[in-house]
Amino acid sequence: MDVFSNQRKAKKTCVVTGGAGFLGSHLTDRLLAAGHRVIAIDNLLTGNVRNIEHLAGNADYRFIEHDVTNFIYLPGEVDFVFHFASPASPFDYLEFPIPTLKVGALGTHNTLGLAKAKGASFLIASTSEVYGDPLIHPQKEDYWGNVNPIGPRGVYDEAKRFAEAMTMAYHRFHRLDTKIVRIFNTYGPRMRLEDGRVVPAFIGQALNEEPLTVFGDGSQTRSFCYVSDLIEGIFRLSTADTHEPVNIGNPSEMTIKQFGEAIIEKTGASSQMVFKELPEDDPRVRQPDITRARAVLGWEPIVGFDEGIAKTISYFKTFLGMEEQA
Ligand code: UDP
Repeated sequence: MDVFSNQRKAKKTCVVTGGAGFLGSHLTDRLLAAGHRVIAIDNLLTGNVRNIEHLAGNADYRFIEHDVTNFIYLPGEVDFVFHFASPASPFDYLEFPIPTLKVGALGTHNTLGLAKAKGASFLIASTSEVYGDPLIHPQKEDYWGNVNPIGPRGVYDEAKRFAEAMTMAYHRFHRLDTKIVRIFNTYGPRMRLEDGRVVPAFIGQALNEEPLTVFGDGSQTRSFCYVSDLIEGIFRLSTADTHEPVNIGNPSEMTIKQFGEAIIEKTGASSQMVFKELPEDDPRVRQPDITRARAVLGWEPIVGFDEGIAKTISYFKTFLGMEEQA
């Protein structure tokens, strides 16, 4: 039985690593809204205190600046550990290859060790990158993937594959209650404008009336999920009785060129697209098969592309000082 469904104690203490990041901060908000306590841990390598400043003074919230590749000392009870710390954009893991490998490997070992010592449940943020440049489309959880271990993206992909293996080993050997979410491309407020990912890159370029930098010919595809949908799926997974990986993402797929056209239209920018070299090992296609999430979690995305993108553009306009957020 997982700790959230143990009704003896309604208010749980949750550790969220990467708590000042895009997803970690949204997950924190969801856990606090559900009445839980959150201890966020982040070394602020790619996270930012701006994402958590609204939580200052919240009695149920505590922030610890710490690198979880080092031993984590936490006194007191912990009911749940969510391991979300990692650089997560291709730009970031090219800039920080060794910290990316370390947080996926040593950080996962330390956070699993913390969960074991506290008798807590554990959820790891894994990724669609475990499928690499996939030869099966859309991607189902039973696909083993097509990853180049020594390519530039290998530092992220292999760290997450190791993290999944380590998590299953703790589940099987130590009988830890563990969950694995494979997160597909997600967007929304609190992404970093300069993190290099296509959503902030194109929106930032369009808002500044600059050319949109399309890598390759733009025929590669991605499927974009709005952050509130993703967080709801993860929240449900945390209480579900399943230890197998679960894909969470939005199956609506488009080419990067179509995505660029949509951003130009929705921002009203006069930007053109410029075509740059395709990064090495950039996956040609990506779309989650969410049959398992539907069956096990009763979950599917509900925020459409138009609504999600409008909210995201509004966030970046505010961030750039262009207008107040609606
Ligand atoms: N991309 C692009 N221009 C950019 C940034 C990204 O064309 O300025 C492309 C990138 O090559 C990839 C897709 O957009 O095919 C999504 O890239 P992102 O970095 O968002 O994440 P990925 O899905 O590759 O992890």
